[in-house]
Amino acid sequence: MDKEQIRKLAENPNFIPGIYNYCDRWCERCPFTSRCMNFALSEEQFDDPETRDITNKAFWNKLSEMFRITLEMVKETAKEQGIDLDSLDLQAASNEHRIARDTAGNHECSRAAKAYGEMVGNWFDSAKDIFEKKADDLSLKVRLELPNSDPASEAAGLKDSVDIIRWYRHLIYVKLVRAITGALEETSQSPDEVPKDSDGSAKIALISIDRSIAAWGQMRKHFPQREDDILDILVHLDRLRRKTETIFPDARAFVRPGFDHKNQDRG
Ligand code: SF4
Repeated sequence: MDKEQIRKLAENPNFIPGIYNYCDRWCERCPFTSRCMNFALSEEQFDDPETRDITNKAFWNKLSEMFRITLEMVKETAKEQGIDLDSLDLQAASNEHRIARDTAGNHECSRAAKAYGEMVGNWFDSAKDIFEKKADDLSLKVRLELPNSDPASEAAGLKDSVDIIRWYRHLIYVKLVRAITGALEETSQSPDEVPKDSDGSAKIALISIDRSIAAWGQMRKHFPQREDDILDILVHLDRLRRKTETIFPDARAFVRPGFDHKNQDRG
C-alpha cells in the first residue's frame, strides 16, 4: 500500500476520527472495526499471514515500510502547512520527551501497574495445578451430565476471565505511563475546556483496571482455594484505581470518540 492508497482510505467518511487513540487495542472484541481506519489499514497491510507473524522477517519489513511511508506523509503535511521541520529542534524535543517518559515510568502508579503485571505472571505460574484440576472437574461434570450443572458455560466464563486478565495485564502500565508522560508535557497554557490526551489515556487505564477487577472477582469464584492471594491482587488493583482517579480527576469524564458517544452508529 502506498501513500496515495492510504490517503484514499482515509477519505472514507464512515471512519470515526481518532477512535484508535483511546481504545484498548483488542480489535477481536471491538464493535467498531468497520469504523476504524487503523483496523482497516492493518487489515490491508498485514493481509498475508507471514506479515502477521512477529517472528517472521516479513512482519518487520512491512512495519519498517509503514514507518517510512508515515514519515514521508508527515513531512509532506508539514510542508503543506508551511511548517519547516528542519527548523525545529527535534533532538531537544526528543530528549525532553525521553526525560518525561522516564519520570512517568518511575511514578508510583506506573510502578504499581508494573508490579501488578508481575503479580499476574507469578499467579498464573503458580496456578498450573489448579487449572489442571479444574479441567478434570469440568470433564467429569460433562460425563456425568449432572442436573443444574453447565460445565460448558463455566469453562467459557473461566476462559473469558483469563483472557481479560491477560489482555490488560501490561496495557494498564503502558496507558498509565502514556497518561503521566502526557500530563508532564501538557503545557499549563492549555485551556481547561480542551479535553486532555492524558485524561483519555488515564481513562483507558481505569477501564482496564475495572475489567481486570471484575475478571479477578470471577476467578475468586472459580478458585476459592486461592482466595487469599486473589484478594491481595484485588486490593492492589483497587489502590491503583483510586490513586489513578486522584491524579486524573477528569479522566472518567473524558469522552472517547465512538466508544463514549451515546447511540453511536456501529456501522
Ligand atoms: S478502535 Fe477498535 S478496531 Fe480500532 S484499533 Fe481500537 S480496538 Fe482495534
